[in-house]
Amino acid sequence: MSKTAIITGSGRGIGAAIARRLAKDGFDIVVNELNEEAGQQTAEECRALGVKASVYAADVSDYAQCEELVKKVKEEFGTIDVLVNNAGITRDGLLLRMTEETYDTVIRINQKSVFNMTKLCGGVMLRQKSGSIVNLASVAGLYGNPGQMNYSASKGAVIAMTKTAAKELGSRGIRVNAVAPGFIQTPMTDKLTEEQKNAILEQVAMKRYGQPEEIASVVAFLCSDDSSYVTGQIIEISGGLSM
Ligand code: NAP
Repeated sequence: MSKTAIITGSGRGIGAAIARRLAKDGFDIVVNELNEEAGQQTAEECRALGVKASVYAADVSDYAQCEELVKKVKEEFGTIDVLVNNAGITRDGLLLRMTEETYDTVIRINQKSVFNMTKLCGGVMLRQKSGSIVNLASVAGLYGNPGQMNYSASKGAVIAMTKTAAKELGSRGIRVNAVAPGFIQTPMTDKLTEEQKNAILEQVAMKRYGQPEEIASVVAFLCSDDSSYVTGQIIEISGGLSM
């Protein structure tokens, strides 16, 4: 029987690369996006690889919308075998200039979404007695980053949530891991100035940016049986940013 993977925020960037890679590995794919149109291209690319793929619009920071999403996926696909909590945003600014609203928005989208989707999909996986959940953390959550008080707090929380969920769900055959990307070339990082990009590159041992496919391949490993005894781990994928 085919397995189903939900990838949040998979209309573009790293999420789209993960969806394509998991489709190549034979998973049926649920593309989640804020609006249905934004996810259509990814879904078409997955279908071209020979699997079933549908787009479900939902703001994953909203619990009620996540409930609706998981209910529809269960009805259409039958099982939920993999959840990749990928949706995320940045709203950078120095601490003293950061507004309360900007702080709250990033925490809600990057952190609360992981609670919403892990609780709901975790419930389905618990009944199946199997599943793999992979969270997108960040090097900012491991080491902190100036101008990202909100983002680094949200990603630090995602790391703690990964370990907590791994401890709670491990005995039921559900593994929970995270990847912590460094600087990956996507629309999210295209916003940085040349000066900011060069400053980051100076700290990268491999002296280049990462590509979304280089995150997707590690996520695919964590979703596969090749990592059947790996849980609660945070894998940094940064070209050697901090050692
Ligand atoms: P991206 O290009 O900005 O893509 C993020 C995706 O998430 C977009 O498709 C976006 O949809 C979607 N999204 C945002 N808010 C959402 C919500 N509330 N509900 C559903 N979908 C939502 O970002 P990316 O670079 O691919 O990053 C993906 C993940 O990797 C994020 O969690 C990010 O923090 C993490 N990460 C990225 C880097 C990097 O260097 N790029 C480094 C470390 C960690 P819209 O198009 O509708 O906004």
